[in-house]
Amino acid sequence: MFLQRTAVAVARRAAVAPALRRGIATTVVRRNAVPDQPKIKTLKDIKTEEDLVGPGARPGTVPTDIEQATGLERLEILGKMEGVDVFDMRPLDASRLGTLDNPVLVRSAGEEQYAGCTGVPADSHNVIWLRMDRQRPVERCPECGSVYKMEYVGPQDDGHGHDHHHGWEEPKTFADYVKPEYW
Ligand SMILES: [Zn+2]
Repeated sequence: MFLQRTAVAVARRAAVAPALRRGIATTVVRRNAVPDQPKIKTLKDIKTEEDLVGPGARPGTVPTDIEQATGLERLEILGKMEGVDVFDMRPLDASRLGTLDNPVLVRSAGEEQYAGCTGVPADSHNVIWLRMDRQRPVERCPECGSVYKMEYVGPQDDGHGHDHHHGWEEPKTFADYVKPEYW
C-alpha cells in the first residue's frame, strides 16, 4: 500500500511539476530552440493561392489548424486571427423590407450568390432562396416582396466578369420579353 501510494505521488509530481514551473521565459527559450521553424504568413502576406499552405507540424507533434489548414479554410483562419470576417457570416439586414429603390444589399465576391429570405421581422415566413448574379443582381422574394441586390465585391479583372461563363447562357423566361421599362 505504501509503495503504491509513493508511486502515484511521484507520477503526479512528474506530471504536474513541469507545467507549474514553465513560465514565460522558458516558453521563449523553447521557441527559439527550434531553429528553422517557418514563419506563418499573415493575412497581408497572402497574394496567391500558393500562399495558402501551412508550414505543417514539426516532427513528433500533432498539427494545429494554423499549421495544417490550406486554401479557403486557411484564409478564414488567418482572417479570424486578425478579427477579419473573411466570408462575412453576418445575417442580412432583416430590420426592413427591401424595395427597388432601397434594396437589401447582399455582398458577394463571386459570380453568383444565393440569399435566404425569411421576411420581416426575421423568420416571418419559411426560408425562400433567391439567386442573384452579376448580370442580374436584383431579386424579389415571392413571399414577402422584399427586394435584394447583389453587391459585387470581388476582383474586377478576373477575366470572367462580363463574358458568358464558359459559353453558358441563362435560359430565356417571360421576363426577357417584357419591355425594359417594366423591369
Ligand atoms: Zn421574403
